[in-house]
Amino acid sequence: MTHWLSILVNTPAHAQLGPVLTYQSEHALAPGTLVRVPLGKRETLGVVWNVAPSDATGELDSGKIRAIAGTLQGVAPLSSAWQQLVTFAANYYQRSVGEVALAALPPQLRELSPEQMQRRLARKPQAAKAQEASAHPAPALSPEQATVVAQIEAAAGPFLLFGSTGSGKTEVYLHCVQQVLAQDPQAQALVMVPEINLTPQLEERFKTRFAALYGEDAVVSLHSGMTNPQRLKSWLAAHSGVARIVLGTRMAVFASLPKLRLIVVDEEHDPSYKSGEGARYSARDLAVYRGRLDGAKVLLGSATPSLESWHQSRPADQGGRYVRLHMPSRIGAVANPVNRPGAVLGLPLVRRVDMNHQHRKAVFSIPLLDAIKERVLRGEQCMVFLNRRGYAPVLHCGECDWKSECPHCSAFRVFHKIDRTLRCHHCGFTERVPRACPKCGNPDITPLGRGTEQIEEHLAELLADIRRPHSVSAEFPEGEPPRVARIDADSTRLKGALESQLAAVHAGDVDVLVGTQMIAKGHDFRRITLVAAVNPDGALFSSDFRAPERLFSLLMQAAGRAGREASLGATSEVWIQTFQPAHPLYAALKQYDYPAFAEQQLLEREQAAMPPFSAQALVRAEARTQEAAQAFLNLASASAHTHMPQWEGWAEVLAQITLYPAVPMTIQRIANVERAQMLVESPSRQALQQFLSGWQSLLHATRAEPDCKGLIRWAIDVDPLAI
Ligand code: ADP
Ligand code: ZN
Ligand code: ZN
Repeated sequence: MTHWLSILVNTPAHAQLGPVLTYQSEHALAPGTLVRVPLGKRETLGVVWNVAPSDATGELDSGKIRAIAGTLQGVAPLSSAWQQLVTFAANYYQRSVGEVALAALPPQLRELSPEQMQRRLARKPQAAKAQEASAHPAPALSPEQATVVAQIEAAAGPFLLFGSTGSGKTEVYLHCVQQVLAQDPQAQALVMVPEINLTPQLEERFKTRFAALYGEDAVVSLHSGMTNPQRLKSWLAAHSGVARIVLGTRMAVFASLPKLRLIVVDEEHDPSYKSGEGARYSARDLAVYRGRLDGAKVLLGSATPSLESWHQSRPADQGGRYVRLHMPSRIGAVANPVNRPGAVLGLPLVRRVDMNHQHRKAVFSIPLLDAIKERVLRGEQCMVFLNRRGYAPVLHCGECDWKSECPHCSAFRVFHKIDRTLRCHHCGFTERVPRACPKCGNPDITPLGRGTEQIEEHLAELLADIRRPHSVSAEFPEGEPPRVARIDADSTRLKGALESQLAAVHAGDVDVLVGTQMIAKGHDFRRITLVAAVNPDGALFSSDFRAPERLFSLLMQAAGRAGREASLGATSEVWIQTFQPAHPLYAALKQYDYPAFAEQQLLEREQAAMPPFSAQALVRAEARTQEAAQAFLNLASASAHTHMPQWEGWAEVLAQITLYPAVPMTIQRIANVERAQMLVESPSRQALQQFLSGWQSLLHATRAEPDCKGLIRWAIDVDPLAI
């Protein structure tokens, strides 16, 4: 008997419904079955999407419809909840279901031949084996932790765990995972982190805790730093139920977990949960949706929640949908309540240095420099961060005003002194630094502004007159000038570099660590007692309305690196060098008062009708010329106004939509490609969704307009993070 099947494949994303093709099969196959199907002249991976009923219309002609090539034997069908998740994501983010579904599967499922797959599956992972003694027993919960855990048990969620850095959030995650796994021998948990490479300690904590309980294979990772064979192995372990815990980055939100009971999203505010290509999904938001589909509890955690999540967790009688949980105190702070005037219990004291009273060109104010020296002489560590890598952002000729522009981008190339190059951070174009000004021949070209390389060099000079008091290893003896080290995207390019640099900090071989936001996140540095932000003001004046939110969170994160050792906590400090010492953002930071900061920001957003009080999407266009990019967007906008009112019921949808004029993107040209964008806004998320789904066909049609010649590509970004 012939069975008709609708099968999803990934052909180039086009129509929003996506390519669901009909095939025939001799055997009945369940929805979710992975199959190989002929497509044109090649064979590709497909997913049985639904089983077409009988051939009711009589149109299906078995002579014309191709047969599937085979099934992926030994791989169970994907669950219907997984299919629903993928369908929702595709619709919400305006991509085809085929694209989203196939991209969510490990690449090797597509690439391996059936024979190779068979061999791979034959290497069955060991079934999880419980062992009685745990190498790292869980600590007894603190009173705050115990309260929060009880609240999570008692309600359905989703939960937003608002807890200071070092308040023990990770321990709460571990505890909740352990409980869920103990309740049901098949239950699974998904734990998401922003960037796994930056938090190797977290991975280690989960692995040691749960390997001891459930065996080595119980915890698997899923992130883009893994090789394809590793990814397939983790994916299969999760899909087959052997893995009980998946620890991963945003891509893990699509992992197949047949018995998912808990989803944790750590640092839920982190922008890296939002994908920057293909379907631009928010893994945080999808996690909340997925929790409902799978009947899994969802726990979001952060010391500085996103304003979206904060707003969602307002009291239920004001419309809040998340349960807000609070852990204000640092672990150990209550037992060790040494506190200084002006400090918040157990947290580093925040000090603002008014740079208006410092020498105009000073990078380090005198009091900050003195404080760093004092710490170093006491054998403590300091951390200095600046969000700009390289030596200087621009090289400049004072004679003719030449600047190190990138010939391919509307941006300057950054001066890297270490290898004497000018590098474009957008397109990668790199050249050796010219000996003299390329325009006028002046040999005296100078760096403008500063980056981490320069801070590192400068600080080493400023500290050259003091001597480190202690010796950690023979390699770094006492009595030498302090060691200044730098960690940023440049210093960590080589595999393993980040790990070894972090190890040096942990070992005490480094006295002052300089870096970008990379060092502000997550690391459990035990001996750092002073953290300084050298020049954070820029974000206060950014045109991006999310810049203050990001700055506040970054500074709180950075503060979280200081004084993690309880005995050092009481004397630790965070220094902010600023020309705006009275700015409310810094005032809230001094009090560690995230709620006050959030209330003020949300008020501003409400008055300006910005997210979360409105829904936004961006359409971005790339073209050979700026004119073509903008013409495409403006014509598509006009097309909506021409056509939609004629579609039944659509005038009301359009009336709720604001289409702004097309504008060049902040960096207008990258690698010789011109970029423009158009903001689409609505007070109603639903109206925006409906509008976008209807607009797709008009956007596709607009592409063919003569004025759009030179258009390369366009894409919709729903809930964009950077505008
Ligand atoms: P967060 O994730 O909020 O930054 P962590 O869970 O990493 O906090 O906890 C901070 C430190 O306190 C860690 O070193 C952790 O091992 C320790 N810790 C957490 N909970 C407890 C507890 N209940 N008892 C003792 N130590 C704890
Ligand atoms: Zn010149
Ligand atoms: Zn460039």
